[in-house]
Amino acid sequence: MELRKDYLLDKYVIVAADRAKRPSDFMKEKEEERNNNICPFCPGNEHMTPEETGRHHENNGWKIRWFTNKFPAVEMSKGDGVIRTDKDFFTYSDAHGVHELIIDTPIHHQQMWDLDSRHLADLLGAYNYRTEELYRIPGIYYVAVFKNHGKEAGTSIYHSHSQVIGFNAVPSLVRELLDACKHYDGCPFCRIIEAEMNSERKVAETENFLSFAPYASVFPFEAWIFPKRHARALGNLKDCFFELAHMLKGILGSLKQLNCSYNIIFVNSPLDADLHFHIRVIPRISKQGGFEMLGSYINAVSPEQAAAFYRGEQS
Ligand SMILES: [Zn+2]
Ligand SMILES: [Zn+2]
Repeated sequence: MELRKDYLLDKYVIVAADRAKRPSDFMKEKEEERNNNICPFCPGNEHMTPEETGRHHENNGWKIRWFTNKFPAVEMSKGDGVIRTDKDFFTYSDAHGVHELIIDTPIHHQQMWDLDSRHLADLLGAYNYRTEELYRIPGIYYVAVFKNHGKEAGTSIYHSHSQVIGFNAVPSLVRELLDACKHYDGCPFCRIIEAEMNSERKVAETENFLSFAPYASVFPFEAWIFPKRHARALGNLKDCFFELAHMLKGILGSLKQLNCSYNIIFVNSPLDADLHFHIRVIPRISKQGGFEMLGSYINAVSPEQAAAFYRGEQS
């Protein structure tokens, strides 16, 4: 596995050619595979996964468990993981890090939007625990936490799971946000939260959190959740995980009505920076075409309509 940077742009790609060996592996999964009754993530099949690195116990079994991905995108390399440049344009290193899976629930047919707020809060606890642990590993500069639900969002296994990748580069979105923040005195997101608090794009508000459809939403029904107080990581919000879980549950409940694929990304700050932590929920309803490949987007649902949908108002 190798980490490579774009010739010019600050964008990195992990070239993990081992993950799909034959062209047939790129073919779409067959429906019978989706309903395969031998599920490696179900209780009783724990031996089918790599060795467990931890679990959230419940009764005699587990509620949430995590282990290294059998098909990791990054690995602890024998090299130093230091990024080098050859001949000006070829920037690379080993794809150095740890790729873990977190199994969200022991129940095969229970999706994230079916979990209650208490369970979601425990899941946030697991995300945070793994994030903090992986940041302790030398050479890991960013820990990405994300969830893929449904085929259009990149899921290959039906049983609900989340992913954590700690690696030796900072994702370009996070870098771009940090660079953009430098143009403001103080944190611009703290001001954006103030501005969206009374806007038509507001989805929900609790004592500590605000959710809204972002002003220039790239994806239909995109929703962001911010802590109102400036916090740089999920770990700074341990006192209100249940409240955050409850807000996330509200958004997921709406997505269940759409029955759509979605991604959730947890935008943590790198350790040496102070980005305002937030969660982005990104439904994968629209297809990406050529215009989008240029970095331009057409969104058929206005953020104001999306927010009304999440608030339960018929439009
Ligand atoms: Zn299962
Ligand atoms: Zn802030």
